[in-house]
Amino acid sequence: MTSNRYDVIIVGGGPAGLCAAMYAGRGMLSTLLIERGMPGGELLNTELIEDYPGFESILGRELAVKMTDHARKFGASFLTDNVEGVKRLPDGDFEVKTDMGKTFTAPSVIVTAGGTPSKLGVGGEKEYAGKGVSYCAVCDGAFFKGETIAVVGGGDAAVEEAQYLTKYATKVYVIHRRDEFRASAILQQRLFANPKIEVIWNKTVEEVEGGERGVTGLRLKDTVTSQVTTLPVTGVFIFIGFKPNTGVIKEHVKHDESGYVFTDTSMMTSIPGLFAAGDLRHQLTRQITTAVGDATTAAIAVEKYLAEKKETAGVGAS
Ligand code: NAP
Repeated sequence: MTSNRYDVIIVGGGPAGLCAAMYAGRGMLSTLLIERGMPGGELLNTELIEDYPGFESILGRELAVKMTDHARKFGASFLTDNVEGVKRLPDGDFEVKTDMGKTFTAPSVIVTAGGTPSKLGVGGEKEYAGKGVSYCAVCDGAFFKGETIAVVGGGDAAVEEAQYLTKYATKVYVIHRRDEFRASAILQQRLFANPKIEVIWNKTVEEVEGGERGVTGLRLKDTVTSQVTTLPVTGVFIFIGFKPNTGVIKEHVKHDESGYVFTDTSMMTSIPGLFAAGDLRHQLTRQITTAVGDATTAAIAVEKYLAEKKETAGVGAS
């Protein structure tokens, strides 16, 4: 085996990737995990985690370190680099190329590349990104101490992160395009009980307004009356969902209308040997627990897939 050939290559180092690496390493597979940043993925964008069994409350970054150490303990190799593409070769193996010019091969790949925050696509959003427009409360919340800010969205992320942002901001408006949230009941209950939060229903953001010092307000449109108003805020946190990062898969893989990858019950995609786990997979919900569940199945399925492949090759050779 050459140094750039592995039994399995894992693309992405969030909870799914780290768990897959832990299981694959423990299964004695030579394992390479490629992650462009710090391992941890979305864990690094989450302050407190309260829904991971065994940890009533743990910091996201602390869980990320624990998962990384755990995967390393079982022998997985880590590479910090951006995967440019995963391509299937004529013999059924995969070639994984990185931005730094490295090429690896493996008979199986688990893609756990997660997703990227969706954008509103309105004027000012790009212009004021990093100057008041943010997609990460944990990263940027502390810049808004004592200020009045807004959160856009009505899912778990918006409702949970609005709550977190009240640690810093004096007032947090939550702007939602409908008159009810899709967030889970317990998160909604906490949000409604927080006196620093005010919900603005039935409004869409038409424009992010600003000046030299960054965001100054939001132009809002009422979805019922079409009335346009301006809300003065110095920051806006946008949590309107994720787009799956499937761009690394260079072959056609079956997916749903939003781009989430279809898998079978073993997490295998429509391409034999190519597995998907975590947030980029088509499924009901996207939690840390579902990501690690997917990853467990994928890593065990890889072991079986490789054993069967070896057996078939052995039969062919005799
Ligand atoms: P999500 O559940 O897809 O919610 C996106 C929200 O943004 C929805 O309320 C949607 O409105 C709104 N939205 C979408 N496009 C919009 C636009 N252009 N303008 C204004 N609003 C827009 O996404 P998420 O909150 O990021 O959560 C993603 C997944 O992660 C979910 O499965 C969630 O359960 C999970 N998650 C879980 C936790 C937790 O349990 N602690 C925390 C974070 C995320 P509509 O409701 O009108 O469609």
